[in-house]
Amino acid sequence: MNLGKYSIGIGDRFSHQGKAQLRAIMKANKSGVNITPVWNKSNREHIYVKSKPEDVRQEADNAVKDLNFKGQYFVDADHINLDTVEPFVESSDFFTLDVASFIGKKSDEKDVNAFLSSCEKYLGKLDIPGIQEPLEVTKELLTEIANKFLAATQQASEIYEYLKEKKGEGNFITEVSMDEVESPQTPIEMLFILKMLADKAVPVQTIAPKFTGRFNKGVDYVGNLDQFAREFEEDVLVIDFAIKEFGLPQELKLSVHSGSDKFSIYPIMTNILKKHNKGLHLKTAGTTWLEEVIGLAKAGGDGLDAAKKIYSNSYNRKDELCAPYVDVIDIDIEKLPSVDEVNKWSSEKFVNTLRHIPDHPDYNLNFRQLIHVAYAVAAEMDTEYTNLLKKHEEVIGQCVEENIYERHLKELFVKSKLIS
Ligand SMILES: [Zn+2]
Repeated sequence: MNLGKYSIGIGDRFSHQGKAQLRAIMKANKSGVNITPVWNKSNREHIYVKSKPEDVRQEADNAVKDLNFKGQYFVDADHINLDTVEPFVESSDFFTLDVASFIGKKSDEKDVNAFLSSCEKYLGKLDIPGIQEPLEVTKELLTEIANKFLAATQQASEIYEYLKEKKGEGNFITEVSMDEVESPQTPIEMLFILKMLADKAVPVQTIAPKFTGRFNKGVDYVGNLDQFAREFEEDVLVIDFAIKEFGLPQELKLSVHSGSDKFSIYPIMTNILKKHNKGLHLKTAGTTWLEEVIGLAKAGGDGLDAAKKIYSNSYNRKDELCAPYVDVIDIDIEKLPSVDEVNKWSSEKFVNTLRHIPDHPDYNLNFRQLIHVAYAVAAEMDTEYTNLLKKHEEVIGQCVEENIYERHLKELFVKSKLIS
Protein backbone atom coordinates (compact mmCIF):
# COMPACT_ATOMS: atom_id res chain seq x y z
CA MET A 1 0.00 0.00 0.00
CA ASN A 2 1.34 3.35 -1.02
CA LEU A 3 -0.02 6.65 0.19
CA GLY A 4 1.07 8.61 -2.88
CA LYS A 5 3.26 11.67 -3.00
CA TYR A 6 0.75 14.18 -1.61
CA SER A 7 -1.88 13.35 0.94
CA ILE A 8 -4.05 15.23 3.36
CA GLY A 9 -5.40 14.12 6.71
CA ILE A 10 -8.91 15.39 7.18
CA GLY A 11 -10.43 15.09 10.59
CA ASP A 12 -14.15 15.31 11.07
CA ARG A 13 -15.26 15.18 14.65
CA PHE A 14 -18.96 14.62 14.10
CA SER A 15 -18.65 12.61 10.86
CA HIS A 16 -21.07 14.73 8.81
CA GLN A 17 -18.66 16.50 6.43
CA GLY A 18 -16.97 13.64 4.57
CA LYS A 19 -18.52 14.59 1.26
CA ALA A 20 -17.77 18.32 1.58
CA GLN A 21 -14.16 17.47 2.44
CA LEU A 22 -13.85 15.12 -0.50
CA ARG A 23 -15.37 17.69 -2.87
CA ALA A 24 -12.52 20.06 -1.96
CA ILE A 25 -9.90 17.39 -2.69
CA MET A 26 -11.53 16.42 -5.99
CA LYS A 27 -11.58 20.06 -6.99
CA ALA A 28 -7.83 20.34 -6.33
CA ASN A 29 -7.15 17.07 -8.14
CA LYS A 30 -8.92 18.41 -11.23
CA SER A 31 -6.09 20.93 -11.55
CA GLY A 32 -3.54 18.17 -12.00
CA VAL A 33 -2.27 17.39 -8.50
CA ASN A 34 -3.18 14.05 -7.04
CA ILE A 35 -3.90 14.36 -3.35
CA THR A 36 -4.88 11.25 -1.42
CA PRO A 37 -7.56 11.84 1.22
CA VAL A 38 -7.02 10.27 4.64
CA TRP A 39 -9.80 10.50 7.20
CA ASN A 40 -8.18 10.58 10.61
CA LYS A 41 -9.53 10.51 14.13
CA SER A 42 -7.78 9.96 17.42
CA ASN A 43 -8.91 7.96 20.39
CA ARG A 44 -9.28 11.19 22.38
CA GLU A 45 -11.71 12.58 19.80
CA HIS A 46 -13.71 9.36 19.77
CA ILE A 47 -14.05 9.50 23.55
CA TYR A 48 -15.29 13.10 23.56
CA VAL A 49 -17.72 12.64 20.71
CA LYS A 50 -18.70 9.08 21.74
CA SER A 51 -18.05 7.83 18.23
CA LYS A 52 -16.39 4.61 17.09
CA PRO A 53 -13.60 3.89 14.61
CA GLU A 54 -16.15 2.13 12.32
CA ASP A 55 -18.02 5.44 11.97
CA VAL A 56 -15.01 7.01 10.27
CA ARG A 57 -14.70 4.07 7.87
CA GLN A 58 -18.36 4.36 7.03
CA GLU A 59 -18.15 8.10 6.47
CA ALA A 60 -15.14 7.71 4.16
CA ASP A 61 -16.69 4.84 2.19
CA ASN A 62 -19.98 6.71 1.79
CA ALA A 63 -18.34 9.95 0.64
CA VAL A 64 -16.21 8.07 -1.89
CA LYS A 65 -19.20 6.15 -3.21
CA ASP A 66 -21.56 9.13 -3.35
CA LEU A 67 -19.07 11.32 -5.20
CA ASN A 68 -17.82 8.48 -7.38
CA PHE A 69 -14.24 9.19 -6.32
CA LYS A 70 -11.88 6.84 -8.14
CA GLY A 71 -8.62 7.50 -6.32
CA GLN A 72 -7.28 5.68 -3.29
CA TYR A 73 -8.16 6.83 0.21
CA PHE A 74 -7.37 5.79 3.76
CA VAL A 75 -8.75 5.77 7.29
CA ASP A 76 -6.14 6.74 9.89
CA ALA A 77 -6.15 5.55 13.49
CA ASP A 78 -4.56 8.75 14.69
CA HIS A 79 -2.20 8.85 17.67
CA ILE A 80 -2.78 5.31 18.83
CA ASN A 81 -0.57 3.27 21.12
CA LEU A 82 -0.57 -0.34 22.31
CA ASP A 83 -3.33 0.38 24.85
CA THR A 84 -5.71 2.06 22.43
CA VAL A 85 -5.10 0.42 19.04
CA GLU A 86 -7.36 -2.61 19.32
CA PRO A 87 -10.75 -1.05 18.37
CA PHE A 88 -9.15 0.56 15.29
CA VAL A 89 -7.66 -2.62 13.82
CA GLU A 90 -10.65 -3.67 11.74
CA SER A 91 -11.69 -0.34 10.23
CA SER A 92 -8.37 1.47 9.71
CA ASP A 93 -5.72 0.97 7.06
CA PHE A 94 -3.43 3.76 8.24
CA PHE A 95 -2.01 3.83 11.77
CA THR A 96 -0.25 6.73 13.45
CA LEU A 97 1.92 5.13 16.12
CA ASP A 98 2.29 7.77 18.81
CA VAL A 99 5.45 7.05 20.75
CA ALA A 100 6.00 10.53 22.19
CA SER A 101 5.44 9.36 25.77
CA PHE A 102 8.33 6.89 25.43
CA ILE A 103 10.88 9.56 24.54
CA GLY A 104 13.56 9.59 27.23
CA LYS A 105 12.50 6.25 28.77
CA LYS A 106 15.38 3.99 29.72
CA SER A 107 16.59 1.23 27.42
CA ASP A 108 18.72 -1.83 28.19
CA GLU A 109 22.40 -1.01 28.22
CA LYS A 110 23.07 -3.79 25.75
CA ASP A 111 20.55 -2.27 23.29
CA VAL A 112 22.20 1.12 23.64
CA ASN A 113 25.62 -0.44 23.05
CA ALA A 114 24.40 -2.42 20.04
CA PHE A 115 23.01 0.78 18.53
CA LEU A 116 26.24 2.65 19.18
CA SER A 117 28.39 0.02 17.53
CA SER A 118 26.05 -0.12 14.52
CA CYS A 119 26.60 3.63 14.06
CA GLU A 120 30.40 3.60 14.08
CA LYS A 121 30.66 4.25 10.36
CA TYR A 122 28.79 7.55 10.79
CA LEU A 123 31.17 8.99 13.41
CA GLY A 124 32.93 12.20 12.46
CA LYS A 125 31.74 14.48 9.68
CA LEU A 126 28.72 13.01 7.93
CA ASP A 127 27.83 14.40 4.52
CA ILE A 128 24.15 14.46 3.66
CA PRO A 129 23.67 15.36 -0.01
CA GLY A 130 22.13 18.82 -0.26
CA ILE A 131 23.03 19.92 3.28
CA GLN A 132 25.88 22.42 3.12
CA GLU A 133 27.60 21.76 6.44
CA PRO A 134 28.36 18.11 7.19
CA LEU A 135 26.66 16.80 10.35
CA GLU A 136 28.98 16.37 13.33
CA VAL A 137 28.41 12.90 14.73
CA THR A 138 30.11 12.15 18.04
CA LYS A 139 29.81 9.22 20.40
CA GLU A 140 28.35 11.54 23.05
CA LEU A 141 25.66 12.72 20.66
CA LEU A 142 24.79 9.17 19.60
CA THR A 143 24.56 8.08 23.24
CA GLU A 144 22.26 10.98 23.96
CA ILE A 145 20.08 10.12 20.95
CA ALA A 146 19.97 6.46 21.99
CA ASN A 147 18.90 7.38 25.54
CA LYS A 148 16.23 9.66 24.17
CA PHE A 149 14.76 7.65 21.32
CA LEU A 150 15.63 3.96 21.53
CA ALA A 151 12.70 3.13 23.81
CA ALA A 152 10.31 5.17 21.66
CA THR A 153 11.34 3.39 18.46
CA GLN A 154 11.15 0.05 20.31
CA GLN A 155 7.55 0.95 21.19
CA ALA A 156 6.84 1.79 17.54
CA SER A 157 8.19 -1.62 16.61
CA GLU A 158 5.94 -3.35 19.15
CA ILE A 159 2.80 -1.61 17.87
CA TYR A 160 3.84 -2.32 14.28
CA GLU A 161 4.41 -6.02 15.03
CA TYR A 162 1.00 -6.22 16.66
CA LEU A 163 -0.62 -4.69 13.57
CA LYS A 164 1.36 -6.85 11.18
CA GLU A 165 0.11 -9.91 13.00
CA LYS A 166 -3.52 -8.69 12.97
CA LYS A 167 -3.74 -7.17 9.49
CA GLY A 168 -0.94 -8.80 7.53
CA GLU A 169 2.21 -7.23 6.21
CA GLY A 170 1.72 -4.56 3.55
CA ASN A 171 -1.99 -4.09 4.27
CA PHE A 172 -1.69 -0.77 6.06
CA ILE A 173 0.27 2.47 6.12
CA THR A 174 2.57 3.10 9.08
CA GLU A 175 3.16 6.59 10.44
CA VAL A 176 5.35 7.26 13.48
CA SER A 177 4.55 10.44 15.41
CA MET A 178 6.58 12.27 18.01
CA ASP A 179 4.99 15.68 17.60
CA GLU A 180 3.13 16.01 20.89
CA VAL A 181 6.17 16.91 22.97
CA GLU A 182 7.76 20.10 24.18
CA SER A 183 11.11 20.19 22.41
CA PRO A 184 11.55 19.73 18.65
CA GLN A 185 13.62 16.93 17.19
CA THR A 186 16.62 18.11 15.20
CA PRO A 187 17.37 16.77 11.70
CA ILE A 188 20.30 14.76 13.07
CA GLU A 189 18.03 13.19 15.68
CA MET A 190 15.54 12.41 12.92
CA LEU A 191 18.28 10.67 10.95
CA PHE A 192 19.08 8.28 13.78
CA ILE A 193 15.43 7.80 14.73
CA LEU A 194 14.93 6.59 11.16
CA LYS A 195 17.93 4.29 11.49
CA MET A 196 16.45 2.79 14.67
CA LEU A 197 13.12 2.22 12.90
CA ALA A 198 14.90 0.61 9.95
CA ASP A 199 16.95 -1.60 12.31
CA LYS A 200 13.69 -2.81 13.85
CA ALA A 201 12.13 -3.34 10.40
CA VAL A 202 9.34 -0.81 10.88
CA PRO A 203 8.40 0.19 7.29
CA VAL A 204 7.59 3.77 8.20
CA GLN A 205 5.95 5.69 5.35
CA THR A 206 5.32 8.98 7.12
CA ILE A 207 7.08 10.50 10.10
CA ALA A 208 5.70 13.34 12.18
CA PRO A 209 8.41 15.12 14.13
CA LYS A 210 7.90 18.05 16.40
CA PHE A 211 9.13 21.02 14.39
CA THR A 212 10.57 24.18 15.79
CA GLY A 213 8.00 26.89 16.63
CA ARG A 214 4.39 26.69 17.77
CA PHE A 215 1.82 24.65 15.82
CA ASN A 216 -1.20 25.88 17.70
CA LYS A 217 -4.58 24.41 16.87
CA GLY A 218 -6.44 26.12 14.06
CA VAL A 219 -4.28 29.26 13.90
CA ASP A 220 -1.15 30.34 12.04
CA TYR A 221 2.38 29.21 12.77
CA VAL A 222 4.26 31.13 15.45
CA GLY A 223 8.02 31.06 15.27
CA ASN A 224 11.12 31.95 13.32
CA LEU A 225 10.36 31.37 9.63
CA ASP A 226 14.01 31.14 8.54
CA GLN A 227 14.76 28.60 11.19
CA PHE A 228 11.69 26.59 10.24
CA ALA A 229 12.72 26.68 6.56
CA ARG A 230 16.22 25.46 7.34
CA GLU A 231 14.98 22.67 9.58
CA PHE A 232 12.23 21.56 7.17
CA GLU A 233 14.67 21.38 4.27
CA GLU A 234 17.22 19.45 6.32
CA ASP A 235 14.50 17.02 7.42
CA VAL A 236 13.53 16.46 3.78
CA LEU A 237 17.16 15.81 2.82
CA VAL A 238 17.80 13.57 5.82
CA ILE A 239 14.76 11.48 4.86
CA ASP A 240 16.07 11.14 1.32
CA PHE A 241 19.43 9.97 2.67
CA ALA A 242 17.80 7.60 5.16
CA ILE A 243 15.71 5.91 2.45
CA LYS A 244 18.84 5.02 0.50
CA GLU A 245 21.16 4.39 3.42
CA PHE A 246 18.87 2.33 5.65
CA GLY A 247 16.58 0.80 3.04
CA LEU A 248 13.38 2.49 4.26
CA PRO A 249 10.32 2.66 1.97
CA GLN A 250 10.88 4.83 -1.11
CA GLU A 251 7.74 6.86 -0.41
CA LEU A 252 8.77 7.85 3.14
CA LYS A 253 7.84 11.50 3.69
CA LEU A 254 7.17 14.08 6.37
CA SER A 255 3.81 14.36 8.06
CA VAL A 256 2.97 17.81 9.39
CA HIS A 257 0.50 17.61 12.26
CA SER A 258 -1.79 20.50 13.18
CA GLY A 259 -0.89 21.52 9.64
CA SER A 260 -4.09 23.35 8.88
CA ASP A 261 -4.07 27.14 9.02
CA LYS A 262 -0.26 27.43 9.06
CA PHE A 263 -0.51 29.91 6.23
CA SER A 264 2.85 31.60 6.79
CA ILE A 265 4.84 28.39 6.29
CA TYR A 266 2.90 27.03 3.28
CA PRO A 267 5.02 28.86 0.69
CA ILE A 268 8.18 27.77 2.50
CA MET A 269 7.12 24.13 2.48
CA THR A 270 5.98 24.11 -1.15
CA ASN A 271 9.21 25.74 -2.34
CA ILE A 272 11.30 23.11 -0.58
CA LEU A 273 9.12 20.21 -1.74
CA LYS A 274 9.28 21.49 -5.28
CA LYS A 275 13.03 22.08 -5.16
CA HIS A 276 13.69 18.50 -4.04
CA ASN A 277 10.70 16.85 -5.73
CA LYS A 278 9.38 15.42 -2.45
CA GLY A 279 5.99 14.47 -1.07
CA LEU A 280 4.08 15.56 2.02
CA HIS A 281 1.31 14.44 4.32
CA LEU A 282 -0.49 17.33 5.94
CA LYS A 283 -2.84 16.66 8.81
CA THR A 284 -5.42 19.33 9.26
CA ALA A 285 -6.37 19.82 12.87
CA GLY A 286 -10.04 20.13 13.74
CA THR A 287 -10.54 22.89 11.26
CA THR A 288 -13.66 21.22 9.85
CA TRP A 289 -15.36 21.44 13.22
CA LEU A 290 -14.71 25.19 13.24
CA GLU A 291 -16.33 25.44 9.82
CA GLU A 292 -19.41 23.71 11.22
CA VAL A 293 -19.73 26.44 13.84
CA ILE A 294 -19.09 29.10 11.19
CA GLY A 295 -21.74 27.53 8.94
CA LEU A 296 -24.26 27.44 11.79
CA ALA A 297 -23.61 31.09 12.58
CA LYS A 298 -23.89 31.95 8.92
CA ALA A 299 -27.22 30.13 8.61
CA GLY A 300 -28.67 32.48 11.27
CA GLY A 301 -31.79 31.69 13.37
CA ASP A 302 -31.44 28.44 15.34
CA GLY A 303 -27.99 27.97 13.78
CA LEU A 304 -26.68 31.26 15.13
CA ASP A 305 -28.31 30.55 18.50
CA ALA A 306 -26.48 27.21 18.67
CA ALA A 307 -23.15 28.86 17.75
CA LYS A 308 -23.66 31.38 20.58
CA LYS A 309 -24.59 28.64 23.01
CA ILE A 310 -21.40 26.76 22.10
CA TYR A 311 -19.38 29.90 22.81
CA SER A 312 -21.04 30.66 26.13
CA ASN A 313 -20.61 27.08 27.35
CA SER A 314 -16.99 27.07 26.18
CA TYR A 315 -16.28 30.40 27.84
CA ASN A 316 -17.68 29.22 31.14
CA ARG A 317 -15.67 25.99 31.04
CA LYS A 318 -12.50 27.28 29.44
CA ASP A 319 -10.06 25.88 32.02
CA GLU A 320 -11.42 22.38 31.77
CA LEU A 321 -11.61 22.45 27.94
CA CYS A 322 -8.14 23.91 27.47
CA ALA A 323 -6.35 21.62 29.93
CA PRO A 324 -5.79 18.64 27.56
CA TYR A 325 -4.52 20.99 24.84
CA VAL A 326 -2.20 23.20 26.86
CA ASP A 327 0.83 22.44 24.63
CA VAL A 328 -0.98 23.32 21.41
CA ILE A 329 -2.99 26.47 22.16
CA ASP A 330 -2.10 30.00 23.30
CA ILE A 331 -5.21 31.84 24.41
CA ASP A 332 -5.08 35.34 25.83
CA ILE A 333 -8.10 35.23 28.14
CA GLU A 334 -8.20 39.04 28.29
CA LYS A 335 -8.89 39.15 24.58
CA LEU A 336 -11.89 36.83 24.65
CA PRO A 337 -15.19 38.67 24.14
CA SER A 338 -17.69 38.32 26.98
CA VAL A 339 -20.69 36.02 26.58
CA ASP A 340 -23.04 39.01 26.79
CA GLU A 341 -21.23 40.74 23.99
CA VAL A 342 -21.24 37.67 21.73
CA ASN A 343 -24.93 37.11 22.39
CA LYS A 344 -25.59 40.46 20.72
CA TRP A 345 -23.57 39.63 17.59
CA SER A 346 -24.99 39.29 14.09
CA SER A 347 -24.26 36.26 11.93
CA GLU A 348 -21.70 38.25 10.03
CA LYS A 349 -19.85 39.42 13.14
CA PHE A 350 -19.71 35.89 14.57
CA VAL A 351 -18.51 34.40 11.26
CA ASN A 352 -15.84 37.05 10.73
CA THR A 353 -14.52 36.71 14.28
CA LEU A 354 -14.15 32.94 13.97
CA ARG A 355 -13.15 32.45 10.34
CA HIS A 356 -9.42 32.35 9.67
CA ILE A 357 -8.89 35.38 7.46
CA PRO A 358 -5.80 36.75 9.26
CA ASP A 359 -6.12 40.36 8.11
CA HIS A 360 -9.88 40.67 8.67
CA PRO A 361 -10.44 43.34 11.36
CA ASP A 362 -12.91 41.11 13.26
CA TYR A 363 -10.74 37.97 13.28
CA ASN A 364 -9.88 36.93 16.85
CA LEU A 365 -7.44 34.05 17.20
CA ASN A 366 -8.21 33.66 20.92
CA PHE A 367 -11.89 33.19 20.17
CA ARG A 368 -10.99 30.73 17.42
CA GLN A 369 -8.68 28.63 19.58
CA LEU A 370 -11.22 28.41 22.38
CA ILE A 371 -13.94 27.17 20.03
CA HIS A 372 -11.39 24.81 18.54
CA VAL A 373 -10.94 22.89 21.79
CA ALA A 374 -14.63 23.10 22.70
CA TYR A 375 -16.06 20.34 20.53
CA ALA A 376 -16.92 18.41 23.69
CA VAL A 377 -19.54 21.12 24.32
CA ALA A 378 -21.21 20.38 20.99
CA ALA A 379 -20.90 16.66 21.65
CA GLU A 380 -22.85 17.14 24.86
CA MET A 381 -25.59 18.92 22.92
CA ASP A 382 -25.95 15.58 21.16
CA THR A 383 -28.83 15.44 18.64
CA GLU A 384 -29.60 19.13 19.18
CA TYR A 385 -26.25 19.77 17.51
CA THR A 386 -26.26 16.99 14.91
CA ASN A 387 -29.84 17.78 13.83
CA LEU A 388 -28.73 21.33 13.12
CA LEU A 389 -25.81 19.97 11.08
CA LYS A 390 -28.36 18.11 8.98
CA LYS A 391 -30.75 21.03 8.74
CA HIS A 392 -28.03 23.45 7.60
CA GLU A 393 -26.05 20.90 5.64
CA GLU A 394 -25.79 22.99 2.52
CA VAL A 395 -24.38 26.17 4.02
CA ILE A 396 -22.06 24.24 6.36
CA GLY A 397 -20.85 21.99 3.53
CA GLN A 398 -19.96 25.06 1.49
CA CYS A 399 -17.93 26.48 4.37
CA VAL A 400 -16.08 23.17 4.86
CA GLU A 401 -15.31 22.80 1.16
CA GLU A 402 -14.23 26.40 0.72
CA ASN A 403 -11.96 26.27 3.75
CA ILE A 404 -10.14 23.11 2.67
CA TYR A 405 -9.88 24.09 -0.96
CA GLU A 406 -9.33 27.86 -0.90
CA ARG A 407 -7.24 28.30 2.22
CA HIS A 408 -5.40 24.98 2.24
CA LEU A 409 -5.17 22.88 -0.92
CA LYS A 410 -5.03 25.85 -3.26
CA GLU A 411 -2.32 27.56 -1.22
CA LEU A 412 -0.25 24.44 -0.70
CA PHE A 413 -0.59 22.43 -3.86
CA VAL A 414 -2.53 24.14 -6.64
CA LYS A 415 -0.99 27.62 -6.80
CA SER A 416 2.56 26.33 -6.61
CA LYS A 417 1.79 23.74 -9.31
CA LEU A 418 3.24 20.82 -7.37
CA ILE A 419 3.23 17.88 -9.71
CA SER A 420 2.39 14.44 -8.44
ZN1 LIG B 1 -0.29 14.99 16.04
